[in-house]
Amino acid sequence: ESLINRIAAGEIIHRPASALKELIENCLDAGSTSIRVTVKDGGLKLLQIQDNGCGIRKSDLPILAERFTTSKLSNFSDLSRISTYGFRGEALASMSHVSHLSVVTKTRSETCAYRAQYSDGKLVPAQPGQAAEPKPCAGNDGTTITIENLFYNTPTRLSALRNTSEEYSRILDVLTKYAIHNPKISFAGSSAPDLSTTASSTIPQAIRMLYGQSIQKDLLEATTSSGDDQKKPESWTSEAYFTNANYQSKKTIFLLFINHRLVESSRIKRALEGVYNGILPKGAFPFIYLSLEIDPRSVDVNVHPTKKEVHFLNEEDITMKICDALQEKLAEKSQ
Ligand code: ADP
Ligand code: MG
Repeated sequence: ESLINRIAAGEIIHRPASALKELIENCLDAGSTSIRVTVKDGGLKLLQIQDNGCGIRKSDLPILAERFTTSKLSNFSDLSRISTYGFRGEALASMSHVSHLSVVTKTRSETCAYRAQYSDGKLVPAQPGQAAEPKPCAGNDGTTITIENLFYNTPTRLSALRNTSEEYSRILDVLTKYAIHNPKISFAGSSAPDLSTTASSTIPQAIRMLYGQSIQKDLLEATTSSGDDQKKPESWTSEAYFTNANYQSKKTIFLLFINHRLVESSRIKRALEGVYNGILPKGAFPFIYLSLEIDPRSVDVNVHPTKKEVHFLNEEDITMKICDALQEKLAEKSQ
């Protein structure tokens, strides 16, 4: 059974960066305004994330890493909505099967913090022979989650992730993207001095800070929407920041958020790149940030939320409208 659990966990946690993505999303869900990440050996030895969010109640700690434990499912009608956001209570459970997972957390109403360690979905004693229960400790309001020795018990996966600098750059990529999407939240990496955005900036400012000075003056903005009655299930809005012909990257930098979750779509990426045909010379590529808000019910619930490629209703129409908006702005500027 534990082998099956490990395999299932590997479907959700592919590599350190995918663990980090889940952890950041939890911090954001907890209302954090400050998120600090510590990484060792590309996240394989250590991945630690500290937030100042709502914390986890002591009484919730014993089952925290059990599968389908989520505090985000308030009632049954929320189920389709929530599952599309990835609120399935699978992330921490998965991590507990393929790493040494520990949590230090404190809510505003508790007088001290508690530490808990997990293995294979269950709370485990800090020392052999001790009781498996949360232990009082010192700590600030908020939550610190520590993932040590990721994939220590899945040697095949571990050996596929030998290149720690590659893993580190993927971690940095996830952090950078979330920092841009959440410019009011301060993100810091203790082993990533290149990543500390100051809070209360705007998305273009965050883009400039993280992708370099030169990018901002070449940045265009386009907002688009279905234009229909915004209450209709098929209604949507999008916000894009993208570079003009003056900016030329060696490869496309593409950030896609759907309902504030970082996702990938090679089809949307290709469509947006197509807008630059005839605008950028051959071999030069743009920077594109796109945030799309759609009815959660129109995101394909059959595709696991952690699967790389997203699909959603009316995807082609929506993509085309966004492409038109970009094209229009690019044409305006080149006149
Ligand atoms: P999900 O996010 O789908 O609910 P997770 O496995 O990611 O499932 O997390 C399980 C639960 O642990 C969450 O529902 C939440 O109650 C709690 N939790 C996890 N991380 C944090 C955090 N940083 N701050 C507060 N609560 C958290
Ligand atoms: Mg989560």
